[in-house]
Amino acid sequence: MNHPDECLQCGTCVTVCPVEMVGGHAIVTFLADPDATDYSVWLCTSCWRCQEACPGGVSIYELMMEQRRREEAPAGYRAAFESVLACGLALQVPQEELDQMRAAWGLEPTRLPPPGLARALLCAEDGDRW
Ligand code: SF4
Ligand code: SF4
Repeated sequence: MNHPDECLQCGTCVTVCPVEMVGGHAIVTFLADPDATDYSVWLCTSCWRCQEACPGGVSIYELMMEQRRREEAPAGYRAAFESVLACGLALQVPQEELDQMRAAWGLEPTRLPPPGLARALLCAEDGDRW
């Protein structure tokens, strides 16, 4: 994969991006026009269509993740991170409700991880980063 400096500014990534298709502006807006400021690196669906279509082989996804690491995540993302740390799930669903949904699909009841397990595993080396 090539460095963003090798971007040809051809705009192909913009034409295939689902975020752009619905009127949003993802990192591809910035790649096609480096002066653009009305884009967010948090809107991406992680579909990789941009990267697969890019004729320059630019590491679009890598660039986006680098920018995410430099920015504070939006509140909704931070809430999801906290929820993962607290219970292992981005969206907290009561066990009973979860098992009802699973039963509707013919699935066995599940066992949720004990509270605090995800935090202990994810923060074991780096401390509490969030
Ligand atoms: S498709 Fe690739 S080369 Fe073209 S603008 Fe997007 S990142 Fe740059
Ligand atoms: S990976 Fe993200 S930026 Fe690339 S096409 Fe998909 S939604 Fe758009």
